[in-house]
Amino acid sequence: MTAEPVAAEGRTLIVGSTGFIGRFVAEASLNSGRPTFILVRSGPASPSKSHAIASLKEKGAKVILGSITDGEFLEKVFKDHEIDVVISAVGGGSILDQLALINAIKAAGTVKRFLPSEFGHDIDRADPVEPGLTMYKQKRQVRRAIEGAGIPYTYICCNSIAAWPYHNNTHPADVLPPLDCFQIYGDGSVKAYFVAGTDIGKFTIKCIDDDRTINKSVHFQPQSNLLNMNQLASLWEKKLGRTLPRVTVIEDDLLAAAKEMRIPESIVSSLTHDIFIKGCQINYTLDRDTDVEVTSLYPEASFQTIDECFEEFIAKVVDSPAVVSKIVDPPVGVIGEPDGDDSIVTPNPGAKALAITATCA
Ligand code: NDP
Repeated sequence: MTAEPVAAEGRTLIVGSTGFIGRFVAEASLNSGRPTFILVRSGPASPSKSHAIASLKEKGAKVILGSITDGEFLEKVFKDHEIDVVISAVGGGSILDQLALINAIKAAGTVKRFLPSEFGHDIDRADPVEPGLTMYKQKRQVRRAIEGAGIPYTYICCNSIAAWPYHNNTHPADVLPPLDCFQIYGDGSVKAYFVAGTDIGKFTIKCIDDDRTINKSVHFQPQSNLLNMNQLASLWEKKLGRTLPRVTVIEDDLLAAAKEMRIPESIVSSLTHDIFIKGCQINYTLDRDTDVEVTSLYPEASFQTIDECFEEFIAKVVDSPAVVSKIVDPPVGVIGEPDGDDSIVTPNPGAKALAITATCA
């Protein structure tokens, strides 16, 4: 592996900076000191979107109003602002809108790198059930369009965001891990990589000036962040200072939730099945010419641990009186302290199968 190149600080345009993943990327871009432009759709904005835009502006982002579906406008933006790198983090419903963006990048001919909205699994390898599969087929279509257009690219395969992996929530890092009981998928032994949102942003930005990541898929596989659900549950119990009941969500329950075709919840259920039942994050080797692994690229850079991420969640618990009252009144029959060892965890022998629609309450 060659040495890490010095950052070129190219002018970067981020699409989707008001979204869940995009805000981490935009903040990391600004933190790195790069000239950062954010493309923001005009029209009525929710308070959270307005707040996100104001906060990024305050940190130095230059706001450009527009949509990725307006090709001519984008072409002009790329040229007028001498954009070197375009990063898209549009959501699952807008994946194919990126085809217009790709056409504009090709027409402008000035963009040196494009990162499409990926930020999950290697979609050329993973094979989830529907409706996750349809989203993957769309992301594959976008990849083929980029490659066909000859645009230099990097695909970010960052695996799961560090949070409790709720099977019906697209943005799990926005909510606390469970306070009443855990739903464990299968026997809870299948591992996944849980990467902090700030690290997804930070390492995405590190990649964009790096010649070693041109036309590559960058896989985020920090060994320190590889955990199964039983370990994740024990770690959270340690932070809470008490144990919680664990109920098993069996494979058929996840498949049934996927089959309901409620979008986006069913997409998350199908991906949850792929991760925690089929092991899609760990059942392949990096044996393609296009594969690079992020900790090999940047061995000196550390990843935030799950312990540290859960420390941030527990701080939010402590700051919220309503939540504190919930955890000081444990459900009937739930007593005891965690054993303190979060590294080796056996499934709760008392765990029982639970229909996915049931709550833990
Ligand atoms: P969000 O839905 O949270 O945000 C989407 C963003 O894209 C918004 O800022 C939205 O703007 C913007 N956008 C959508 N369409 C357009 C358009 N035509 N022009 C300009 N901006 C547009 O997306 P997510 O963060 O959930 O998803 C981003 C990517 O990350 C996806 O590929 C998804 O699959 C992946 N992901 C990965 C996760 C993981 O754990 N690894 C978790 C969640 C997502 P507006 O506010 O105007 O709507």
